[in-house]
Amino acid sequence: MALLIRNLSQIATPAGSAPKRGKKLRELVVHEQSVIVIRDGRFAFIGRESDIGDSLRATLIEDFDARGATAVPGFVDSHTHIPFAGFRESEFNRRLQGETYSEIAASGGGIASTVRATRAASEEELCGNVVARARMMARYGTTTTEAKSGYGLNLEDELKQLRAIRAATETSPVRLIPMCLAAHEFPPEDRSAAWVERIIDEILPRVAEEKLAVFCDVFVEKGVFTREQGDAILRAGARLGMTPRMHADELSDTDGASLAASLDAASADHLMHISDSGIAALAASNTVANLLPATSFFLMSDRYAPARKLIEAGAIVSLSTDCNPGSSMTESMQTAMQLATLQMKMTVEESLTAATLNGAHSLRMANEIGSIEVGKRADIVLLDAPNYLHLVYHFGVNLVRAVMRDGQFVAA
Ligand SMILES: [Zn+2]
Repeated sequence: MALLIRNLSQIATPAGSAPKRGKKLRELVVHEQSVIVIRDGRFAFIGRESDIGDSLRATLIEDFDARGATAVPGFVDSHTHIPFAGFRESEFNRRLQGETYSEIAASGGGIASTVRATRAASEEELCGNVVARARMMARYGTTTTEAKSGYGLNLEDELKQLRAIRAATETSPVRLIPMCLAAHEFPPEDRSAAWVERIIDEILPRVAEEKLAVFCDVFVEKGVFTREQGDAILRAGARLGMTPRMHADELSDTDGASLAASLDAASADHLMHISDSGIAALAASNTVANLLPATSFFLMSDRYAPARKLIEAGAIVSLSTDCNPGSSMTESMQTAMQLATLQMKMTVEESLTAATLNGAHSLRMANEIGSIEVGKRADIVLLDAPNYLHLVYHFGVNLVRAVMRDGQFVAA
């Protein structure tokens, strides 16, 4: 039984399952005045209504009037920290009054305050928080999101965060892809290197045993994890079947991008301080440069990742929100795209491909999601807009009229 979506003013999508680099990042397929047919949760037809074949036409039982909306692929948010408890709005307010992020961290705020609140929360509470954030994401057009641990910083609480993600998949409107980031920070009670051994010897094996994560991540940064520690943790994760990702070159240049590329990581994320050699390493690799401009914006920094240099060098660029209570409190991929365009000088076309197909590639799902094409899962956003340019042009509002995941409405 099939659903016909008619009266679309435009369908705009990247094409294929291969990630886009360089000039290909801006090559969208645009259908004007077309329809979409969805059957068994997948796209069955895209094109002129008069071109629908007889056998497919015979299965049409439902009809949805899009009233002139523009359809784009469901957004893929490949970097978030959504299983957390406790907001940090008062720290945010202190930052507005001149305190720096490091001063706040030194007084017991920062990640440590989220660790305290997350440890104190039950798995049920965390699950509820994940679902609530996923509902907000869906309202803003996201249909797939990565979700990670990293605020537990001990075996039980890391497992609790990951189990909360698993429990949330039952009711989340957004598809959740779990990742272990036990190596987000050192536990506040013990900043010794023993933590690295515990991650490798205890936490990752348990996470693998319970099949709680697809990916493994490390925050390689001055004063946090060294390159050697990052390398050891990610190799241990990979041996257990978890594909590496890396928080790289965020606050300083540690040559993290080159390390991520050398490990064939799925992504190197943040990259505000990436060097020219790091850019070259990513361009020569399959590691996605995952850019998070909302973080620079929210921290009131002038420093954004060098998106143009990365694109021109030929790196695979994706975009994410970095949704977390300290440095990027937003679930909106529309905001990430607007900042990518207006602050990092990406084009609207590049931003849309980065927010869909390239993010899907980094989550190893580009065969299934990331574009509007026959055979892929029917994840779509219907925008209250005559064309895709409005995604950035009509900024600061929510353009979403309706969202479908696997052919089912999840937000409207
Ligand atoms: Zn992060």
